[in-house]
Amino acid sequence: MSGRNTAWRNWAGSARCVPQELVVVRDEEDIVRAVQRAAAAGHTVRTAGTGHSFNPIVTTDGVLLDLTGYSGIVSVDRHTPAVTVRAGTSLRRLNLELEKVGLALSNMGTLDEQTIGGALSTGNHGSGITHPPFTGQLLGLRLVTADGTIRECAADSDPELFLAAGTALGALGVLSTVTLRCVPRFKLRVVSGSEPLAAILADAPAWASRSDHATFSLKAWSGPNASTLKLDRTDDPVSADATRRRYGNTLGEVRCTLAGLAGRVDQRAVRGLMTARLPFAVDRPPHYVDRSFDAFTFPQPVKFLSLEYALPVTELAEAVPAVQRDVTRFGRQTPYSVTVRFAAADDFLLSLAHGRTTGFVNITVPRTVGYTELLRTFEAVLREHQGRPHWGKAHTATWDVIADRYPGWQRFQAVRAELDPRGMFTSDYLRRVLGG
Ligand SMILES: Cc1cc2nc3c(=O)[nH]c(=O)nc-3n(C[C@H](O)[C@H](O)[C@H](O)COP(=O)(O)OP(=O)(O)OC[C@H]3O[C@@H](n4cnc5c(N)ncnc54)[C@H](O)[C@@H]3O)c2cc1C
Repeated sequence: MSGRNTAWRNWAGSARCVPQELVVVRDEEDIVRAVQRAAAAGHTVRTAGTGHSFNPIVTTDGVLLDLTGYSGIVSVDRHTPAVTVRAGTSLRRLNLELEKVGLALSNMGTLDEQTIGGALSTGNHGSGITHPPFTGQLLGLRLVTADGTIRECAADSDPELFLAAGTALGALGVLSTVTLRCVPRFKLRVVSGSEPLAAILADAPAWASRSDHATFSLKAWSGPNASTLKLDRTDDPVSADATRRRYGNTLGEVRCTLAGLAGRVDQRAVRGLMTARLPFAVDRPPHYVDRSFDAFTFPQPVKFLSLEYALPVTELAEAVPAVQRDVTRFGRQTPYSVTVRFAAADDFLLSLAHGRTTGFVNITVPRTVGYTELLRTFEAVLREHQGRPHWGKAHTATWDVIADRYPGWQRFQAVRAELDPRGMFTSDYLRRVLGG
């Protein structure tokens, strides 16, 4: 819906705004025209994807461009292989289109509904200690800048702009099309299990190196063991029950929300609800095989709140037990879940994994818990361990805290000053996290 006084809100319902004007764009010309019109009128501009960020990174009282109608593949290069795609395309659509031509993305997070522009701009990541965040697949991009001109860049042409624009929170302009490196399509074996947390943390990088994409998670009642999830490439056929298994995760989240609601009435109900075997056997079995993108992701219709910090992987040994202590402080019935994922270092200037092999510590809580309690409980300890807040999740960090954690901070600010000298793409939130 375009127009004036049209309200916008994010997926989680934790951020909302009434922009001066909401403009739904359909092609690159629309983006250029909208930016030039806003520049002439002296308005600020923000860009919205599907609003899957938990914080107010999108909100504005200026002009808001909705990119979700600017979608689809522009071209496929089977030789590299690579795909050029409009930035408003959802990851789900991209995956399905790539599959038709025998290609895939090499890694992704657990969500596929968000736009490619939003995923790049917030530092989106999956897990895999040899895989950098989503930007690791970026080969080039087209950016509509503050005066409406288009800048193209790639690693070998205008590398400084490329490294700044890969993850830029929408602060440099509007990503129009992006080119992503692909791999031949593949399948993954999904293996879930349970292992002693102490053994994992004794050498977390070595533990993570033993599978292509390793994750572990904890609940308040986990005790000494962590639940583990390992995804490895396989040539075996897709399991007959793969789709049902995929929805098992979704039902797990429904259960977590119900437990959160029940816990408001009686805390003791939570653990029973969370640990009961579901009668229709959706709990993950030890093994199944699925198409890569269906193994990485699962449908997530249930709203929740999430906070995540990117730590040097070596900090996990101390940080994870501290977070676990914070969770159990709320009682062994607390339906909070802590998930730890991994990424290789990269060199995008504001990448969460810039310059360091990274362990991501994510805390998910039911919406009934509330944004403030989530922050109050977990943020301090993750910051103490050199954590960088996920650009798209709940956090209270300000630019003066964040700047020291990014060696490329000044380089990013130099590109920002050159491309957007009048702060056309800024907002209250961006002033807080990136400075004025
Ligand atoms: C259920 C759920 C699961 C999630 N799982 C993960 C996960 O596994 N891993 C992970 O890292 N994160 C995860 N997240 C966070 C989420 O994936 C990111 O915040 C998301 O990728 C943002 O995409 P979006 O399209 O919703 O962008 P929005 O939230 O709409 O926008 C985010 C930012 O991107 C900018 N932006 C969007 N499009 C453009 C563009 N074309 N040009 C310039 N700037 C643009 C916006 O201005 C804004 O600054 C999850 C979130 C939810 C709600």
